[in-house]
Amino acid sequence: MARTRFPLAARSTDLVGSVIDSSTSLLAKQQHDIVRFAMGSPAPEAVPSEVLGELARAELSRPDAYDYAASEGDPRLREALLADLDGTTDHTTPERLLITAGGMQGLDLAFKLFVDPGDLVVVESPTYTNGSATAMSYQAQLLEVPVDDEGMQVDRLEEMVEQAGRAPKAIYAIPTFQNPSGASMSIERRHRLIELTRRWGSLLIDDDPYGRLRFAGDDVPSLHELADGDPLVLSVRTFSKIIGPGLRVGWVEADPALQQLLINAKQAMDTCTNLPLQRLIAAFLEGGHLGEHLATQRVAYRERKTAMQEALVEHFGDEIRCTDPEGGFFLWVTFGEEVDTEALFERALADGVAFIPGNAFSPSKFFPNAVRLCFASSQPDRIREGVARLRTAVDHVKQGA
Ligand code: PMP
Repeated sequence: MARTRFPLAARSTDLVGSVIDSSTSLLAKQQHDIVRFAMGSPAPEAVPSEVLGELARAELSRPDAYDYAASEGDPRLREALLADLDGTTDHTTPERLLITAGGMQGLDLAFKLFVDPGDLVVVESPTYTNGSATAMSYQAQLLEVPVDDEGMQVDRLEEMVEQAGRAPKAIYAIPTFQNPSGASMSIERRHRLIELTRRWGSLLIDDDPYGRLRFAGDDVPSLHELADGDPLVLSVRTFSKIIGPGLRVGWVEADPALQQLLINAKQAMDTCTNLPLQRLIAAFLEGGHLGEHLATQRVAYRERKTAMQEALVEHFGDEIRCTDPEGGFFLWVTFGEEVDTEALFERALADGVAFIPGNAFSPSKFFPNAVRLCFASSQPDRIREGVARLRTAVDHVKQGA
């Protein structure tokens, strides 16, 4: 329709938007009480707003906090972040670091630099479709590789690439507490994925917003660490899940040879990441608040995940299958084949609970009977209430109500 009226670029037809993001605006318009399992947001009480508020008063009252920032990031934030990452699986050095407008901009920069129209890009299935949508905006052809409890099925990846008859230009992986499945890639698969990436000469995008939110099990080294400085690994990180998504601040970690290209691409996009919030985060890190904050969050998220799993067992028993993540924000729940979760969404919203339907996590819509539930945003009592409402909604749909 729009194409007949405007001289649009061909790529505009590949701009698919995000069902996930649109739920924020949809939910804001609802007047009734809704338990929110939809967006991947920390709960309001989980945001360290008191400390941030105090720091903001000092930081944001300085006039120089409102100037343009250096495109690679404000020196104070860069320094504080490097110090914070020191000793973690994401340790890095200044010439490899670029501050971005959230994780999404990191993904956009990566696909922008590496994807030409028609290039093959591997994504997980299910995946975070904002990421695959970004690849599509550069007219990638997607290959959806299934995920199981150990993350992307790397043996299937190899078979599927062989069948495709050409190497992928980029592989988009969310190796730890994957969005939406919660699954983490085993160490064996991580090694194998790096090997394949090297063999094919592909870019490996290591997108890991949740890795620091582990509440069970042992740490697994990041792809970044395992690849030991391989120029083909580009890491995308964000403060969205560990402090707050409205900040819109994240970072990219990449080979120094890519730094200037990343800066050029960012300058053509938004000049720099907003300075006041970079300063605020710098002050939060300098004050040593992040470690303490994460320790509290991990305990809260473990409780919330358990509350959600227990409520699901109580209300659904073996009618569903549910993943068992060791960190992050999400449970991935699969109903019987007769349940259409897109249809269920409307009913559930009316019954006072919101989730994201499974098909929103696959460009080919491979998951019509699954849902993603975010346990991070609600307290245990609300979680129990939300799961009870979900039971009511499923019953309504089954009765044709
Ligand atoms: N990658 C994944 C896997 C995510 O879950 C998210 C946020 N939901 C992002 C990237 C984007 O992060 P940001 O909000 O910082 O842009």
